[in-house]
Amino acid sequence: MDVVISHLKNNLDNYLEELKEYLRIPSISTLATHVDEMIKCAGFAAQKLKDAGMTRVEIFPTAGHPIVYGEWLGKPDKPTVLIYGHYDVQPVDPLDLWTDKPFEPVIHDGKIWARGANDNKGQHFVHIKSVEAYFKTLGELPVNVKFILEGEEEIGSSNLVAFLKEKQELLKCDAILISDTSMYAKGVPTITYGLRGLLYMEVEVIGPDKDLHSGSFGGAVANPINELAKIISKFHDKNGKVTVPNFYKNVLKLTKEEKENFKRLKLSDKQYAKEINVKELQGEKGFTTLERLWTRPTLDCNGIIGGFTGEGAKTVLPSKATAKISMRLVPNQDPVKIAKEFTKFVYSIAPRSVKVDVRTLHYGYGVVIPLGSKAINAAAKAVSKAFGKKTFFTREGGSIPIVVDFVKQLKAPTVLMGLGLDSDNIHSPNEHFLIENFEKGLYSSAYFLDEFSKS
Ligand SMILES: [Zn+2]
Repeated sequence: MDVVISHLKNNLDNYLEELKEYLRIPSISTLATHVDEMIKCAGFAAQKLKDAGMTRVEIFPTAGHPIVYGEWLGKPDKPTVLIYGHYDVQPVDPLDLWTDKPFEPVIHDGKIWARGANDNKGQHFVHIKSVEAYFKTLGELPVNVKFILEGEEEIGSSNLVAFLKEKQELLKCDAILISDTSMYAKGVPTITYGLRGLLYMEVEVIGPDKDLHSGSFGGAVANPINELAKIISKFHDKNGKVTVPNFYKNVLKLTKEEKENFKRLKLSDKQYAKEINVKELQGEKGFTTLERLWTRPTLDCNGIIGGFTGEGAKTVLPSKATAKISMRLVPNQDPVKIAKEFTKFVYSIAPRSVKVDVRTLHYGYGVVIPLGSKAINAAAKAVSKAFGKKTFFTREGGSIPIVVDFVKQLKAPTVLMGLGLDSDNIHSPNEHFLIENFEKGLYSSAYFLDEFSKS
């Protein structure tokens, strides 16, 4: 084991150079113009799995972006771990807010900066390299390992879900390991056992069939942007509660243990507000910040499109306006039902003067993973060894819809070994990943494979 760890330590700089190569590929899954980059990125990941020592590596085409698979099954008497990651990344705009270029990774201030540095290339790359270190030093792995790297996590993983259903035998495993979450705080080894779900919708308000002169027509016709703003303003009441009917109906209540556990994490609202650079925190009344972030559902407007947004002035009444709306959902809310309720609600508050269209873009369920499985225990030991501290068990506000499908389809305990920090700017300009977390992530991965083989 020590020889694996020192190999990882000695090769840290090489791994970072390889990661940079990975990060240079602009694998933005949502952009149709980037299809070739996605194929290139899948090829790169597959090659890394081969180089790491996986004996069977395949790129499976899908109706969307390809899925990369790799396996080494040289230990028939030992358990099998399926390691999941995603090679696709979020778009990079607004580009002018990036200090360094998003696809020209650089290292400074103890961090590697690039789109995907944390989410998720940096995080899953540690597992590829820990596996490689085992082969380079001991010639084998302590357990069987399968990798599955998808290219559609940021757009809903729809083709992976079909793949999981279809390839149950290929993906059979005793545990699923995912590094795509955050640590509770810098230096605090964390295993996450709960994630929120997501429902993403679009509301379009349509007025005149073309933009109109606001002097000639202003006062006579409804302005879709004004009307959209009025609709959005009705989504919350004065206590920060979402007003969509039946929204909270099936929300899983916090247990007493959880409530106390969260208290022990001692989150300071003031400090937290400072960290994310806001004047103060806000949200649903009656809950602490951690409870709101991890166990309560939310509704947010993510973007508004409409009218004239260029430089200078243009006096128009826009013909339409669209809002992107996301809801973070929790167990046991059903996104399909919530989508129906939301749609009904929007129609009920929409003015008659405009046409309104509500569309569901994608959704995923929230999940709470039972603690106490061998895999979770092995992971808790592993991160504790790597970071030199006691492991914290947390829930998280983000969503990895695919976790629910993994649990449902493969029926194996899922370990969320997050190595990122909430301050890493994932999905934002200046995304980065702490070199220290990358390094300790390498050790965590290696320790996990070792601990899991002993369990
Ligand atoms: Zn992401």
